[in-house]
Amino acid sequence: MTWLFNPPAPVALSIIGRQALFPVRRILCVGQNYAAHAREMGADPTREAPFFFAKPCDALTTEAEVPFPSATENLHHEVELVCAIGGEGADLSPAAAGNLIIGWAVGVDLTRRDIQAEAKSRGRPWDASKGFDHSAPCGPLTLGALPNPGGAIALAVNGEMRQSARLDQMIWSPAEVVAQASRLWRLMPGDLIFTGTPEGVGPVVRGDRIEAAIAGLAPLTFTLT
Ligand code: MN
Repeated sequence: MTWLFNPPAPVALSIIGRQALFPVRRILCVGQNYAAHAREMGADPTREAPFFFAKPCDALTTEAEVPFPSATENLHHEVELVCAIGGEGADLSPAAAGNLIIGWAVGVDLTRRDIQAEAKSRGRPWDASKGFDHSAPCGPLTLGALPNPGGAIALAVNGEMRQSARLDQMIWSPAEVVAQASRLWRLMPGDLIFTGTPEGVGPVVRGDRIEAAIAGLAPLTFTLT
């Protein structure tokens, strides 16, 4: 096999306590999965089926420095629990979907809120607001069951708490989110699913230090440069 040019390097997450890396295939994200965040975005937090958007897998970054994106005056942080998929399946029950989740990480769904607001108002797609380069900072994976399903999820900017909630405040549990996703895509090993953010999203600027944490998981810290 020869290539016209070199294929891109695989995108990977490190795994706590393991030498092996998790190869990332695809990043799916769920919108408005905490009632208080749905309300702060002007939506009705009823238990409608969750909706999804995607980020390209090379939007993932594990670097301590994340470049501030172009073309936005209103970059927002969204701390999220990330599910790592380790098996294949489609049209799954929540129980079967839960069995596909082999690990967990802390992620931040960086969002160009100004571009997203324009897209929403004009009925345009979200790609430029959600799927830009370096838009998915993510910490290392912890394999196994979620250590503390009712535990804290939080994000601080320059030491000031901005988001503070509990994982059991999700409208749809991680297994339910993965089950819903599996009705829309055949899930495969290497897929990551961002499960939505709690309330308290807000703007960040160049130089800000962002610390994201979920009970029992390795924290994620990065600086916008
Ligand atoms: Mn999000």
